[in-house]
Amino acid sequence: MRSPPTSPFPLGSLALAALLACERPSAGESALPETTGLARTADAPAPAASDDALLAAWSGPYGGVPAFDRMDLATLEGATTEAIRRHLAELETIAADRAPPSFANTIVAMERSGRALDRLETFYGIWASNLSTPEFREIQERLATKFSEYESQVVQNERLFNRIKAVHDGAEIKGRSPAEQRLVKLIQDRFAREGAALDGPKKARYAEIQTRLAELHTRFGNNVLADEEGIVHFLKEAQLAGLPPSVKAAAAAEATARNRAGEFAITNTRSSIDPFLTYAEDRGLREQVWRAFYSRGDNNDAHDNKAVIAEILRLRDERVGLLGYQNYAQWRLEDRMAKTPERALELMMTVWPAAIARVKQEVRDMQAVADKEAGKAKRAKFAVAPWDYRYYADKVRLAKYDLDSDEVKHYLQLDKLREAMFMVAGELFGFDFTPLPADAKVPVFHADVKVWEVKDRRSGRVVGLWYLDPFARPGKRSGAWATSYRGHTTIDSSPLVLAANNSNFLKAAPGEAVLVSWDDAETFFHEFGHALHALASNVDYPTLNGGVRDYTEFQSQLLERWLFTDRVIDRYLVHDKTGAPMPKALVAKIERAANFNQGFATAEYLASALIDLKLHTADPEGLDPDKFERETLTALGMPDAVVMRHRTPQFGHIFAGEGYAAGYYGYMWADVLTADAAEAFVRAPGGYYDPTLAQALVSNLFAPRNAVDPAEAYRAFRGRDPEVAALLRDRGFPAPKAAKPKK
Ligand SMILES: [Zn+2]
Repeated sequence: MRSPPTSPFPLGSLALAALLACERPSAGESALPETTGLARTADAPAPAASDDALLAAWSGPYGGVPAFDRMDLATLEGATTEAIRRHLAELETIAADRAPPSFANTIVAMERSGRALDRLETFYGIWASNLSTPEFREIQERLATKFSEYESQVVQNERLFNRIKAVHDGAEIKGRSPAEQRLVKLIQDRFAREGAALDGPKKARYAEIQTRLAELHTRFGNNVLADEEGIVHFLKEAQLAGLPPSVKAAAAAEATARNRAGEFAITNTRSSIDPFLTYAEDRGLREQVWRAFYSRGDNNDAHDNKAVIAEILRLRDERVGLLGYQNYAQWRLEDRMAKTPERALELMMTVWPAAIARVKQEVRDMQAVADKEAGKAKRAKFAVAPWDYRYYADKVRLAKYDLDSDEVKHYLQLDKLREAMFMVAGELFGFDFTPLPADAKVPVFHADVKVWEVKDRRSGRVVGLWYLDPFARPGKRSGAWATSYRGHTTIDSSPLVLAANNSNFLKAAPGEAVLVSWDDAETFFHEFGHALHALASNVDYPTLNGGVRDYTEFQSQLLERWLFTDRVIDRYLVHDKTGAPMPKALVAKIERAANFNQGFATAEYLASALIDLKLHTADPEGLDPDKFERETLTALGMPDAVVMRHRTPQFGHIFAGEGYAAGYYGYMWADVLTADAAEAFVRAPGGYYDPTLAQALVSNLFAPRNAVDPAEAYRAFRGRDPEVAALLRDRGFPAPKAAKPKK
């Protein structure tokens, strides 16, 4: 299931926003719109509605926890109206202050404002991602307009902007700390980038565009969702040849849940089609399942997204034109680590030829297996097509590396992986995780959710809580993601962080361990990296918890590396039946196979990232998304056997919100940092558990979040800028002789 936008607050809470990181491109995923804008943390002057469960200050242990046991969807719309009203009133009070603008009466006051809306956003996020229903989605469509109007009202408050600008330009700020100076600049730039400096008709047009875009983003997400939920392939046992028992069992459970017991359901979601395409022997069925998935939003019916895309692109271009930018990507990347579309494109085009060359080798290997099979069965030969890629890749994997993903799975037990993550968090961050006792007064929104207390080992100080919602269920969006119900600040009543991880593992039969794939295990570590990034924060102001999109995936991607360290392998990757640790021979096989299929993975990702950036630098007038996609891919020399990971009509990262728009490249940007930082650990005396380097990692790259410029933070950690050659080496691609270090 592709998610509808989770957070409706493009200008809303930066604090939470930033922590709403995530989505790996290589695992189940969906886009969370990025929120940019004001941070809100302080309590509102509480009027009568304060007893509303969605708005009230959180009570209970740990500095207060969300009242997930008191969520009532019927109150959502009213509570949203009230939360918005309160925040606007708070900002108006700041704007109308008679005293001259100062850091305290303007910036800090803003950082303290909007806390009711922050809290509301937490509940909203749960409904959007963890407990979605048709009723919620209807409300969401209506609220989209309301949120967009609110955001416009915030940035269009001229007196407020003038005060921010006065603080930014004034003398007082020069005496403030570097983090505080950065805070002021982030806020002032954000307002300017959102049109605060526009006047008259331009300002009105800007607001109009925002309102329409909000509707279109929601519609885009819901169209994809409709094509995911509305299409199910019901199959008979005889059609399942090749599928391992675990995949069959999951398909049987899906069918039973749809009142078709005895049949097998392949749903139109990535987590369902991936294993099917990997194992199903029936080539015709593979094609059918593949076509349904890659046609989401592209069926020329009521849920078709092509016209929605064209309008989104036109409006985005018009909007940044009002601000004086040449194209959307230029506007988008200005405050990213990459800074310009040219630098992002340069990185991608450095890697693209290597990926394409590797795909050709991979297809050659697969074609040989397919031809041999055809010969044996006296069938006609065929060229390997996109619906064959995963299937034959797995055969090559078996032949070349003798690596059976189902065998590996038996060493990847969910509970053990979680213990391994806790061990890593202990070694690197000094955090201890303890499960909350059953009588702890910490409500959860579903019986599957479990909560741990996080303590700093050295000081004994409680850092926060970690919520885990591990299992798939109807109404929960697909993939895995991290979020945060409360970020660290020192100006709030509680600095305790409430971080959460969400996955879509399939429950095991009673008495059996939950087994996951290697990819899912990496994703589990990845999302935990986001949680640790939140828990490790030491910033004072909510806005400084914010993320820089091409940088915030780095911390989580880096954490994936610890899955395959000796300590984790030896102690936690143990067989579910025998308890034996993963045999050395299997470890060696996994190592040898690590770069297997990197051509495919890199090409399917880069094709999407390149289309994203090119769509957002192109002239949108008369742009036909379908034609654009075809022509751009042809020009790039896209191999026939590979499809974009996200085709344009289903590319929720960039069209269900603005979070990754012109920013999907960010995963690779972050990958360069990851590969480069990982080399530092590999070369450290203590390897991945080197205490000195771990300390440098936490203090430079995790704790400051956005309080320090990412490029500077990285330099402080590594002593130099990251090198793209590290990425090429990491993927087993030939590194170019003159790889230019990135700035
Ligand atoms: Zn992520």
